[in-house]
Amino acid sequence: MVRDVLGLRNGVALLLAAVVSSLHMAGAGAADVAKVRCGDAQVAVSAALSEDAASVCAGARRAVAFLGGIGLTTDRIIELEVLSPTSDKIPDNVYGCYDAGEDNVKMLAYVACSGLGSGSGTFGESMSRDLYESIAAHEVAHAIATANAAVGGLSRVAQEYIAYVTQLSTMSAQLRGRILARYARVRPDGLNGIAMGIWLMAPDVFAIRCYKHHLLPGGGAQFIRDLLSGSVDLRPLDAHP
Ligand SMILES: [Zn+2]
Repeated sequence: MVRDVLGLRNGVALLLAAVVSSLHMAGAGAADVAKVRCGDAQVAVSAALSEDAASVCAGARRAVAFLGGIGLTTDRIIELEVLSPTSDKIPDNVYGCYDAGEDNVKMLAYVACSGLGSGSGTFGESMSRDLYESIAAHEVAHAIATANAAVGGLSRVAQEYIAYVTQLSTMSAQLRGRILARYARVRPDGLNGIAMGIWLMAPDVFAIRCYKHHLLPGGGAQFIRDLLSGSVDLRPLDAHP
């Protein structure tokens, strides 16, 4: 098991360092699930396939670095679980999610994500390792944002703002370039374009607007810190999508 994890075929093998533990799934079709630490990041991933662990680690590490760069950290280890589509721990037709109740991230195994095809939240992209890593980064951003939110927590729209900015900022330049070209007509539209109603109706457009807002004066690291401290509140916009 240890050799399987450390013996990955690609360069991201180096991301997987100390093996924390391993366990065995019960039942038919049982698979060995290795739990690994993602290098020196405060992230641990449980996955049956070392390739999936490597992808999830890569995305998670980039999210940790990006948000750490603007002062957002967490003392605890962020836990991610890569699950098969038969698992009842992850909702149907979801690539990944942050489970606030358990305070961990759940990702669908890559091969199962590929089977879902493209959908909302995937920017018109077919599933790829680059996209899969970026989804892990998005979900880890939710975990870090939750850990850094002021008392009372974050609104959903603020959560998604931080998660999408992290996802688009940390994905491969090639993937980001393709997505921005596809959505070239989406303009930032100030904070009016960042509302829950838009996220519900057109999550990809919402995501692009968040990213473009982040790059403009008035956005950036300070805006994210203001969201987390509660000095900026996007909730009032929800009434006017
Ligand atoms: Zn999200």
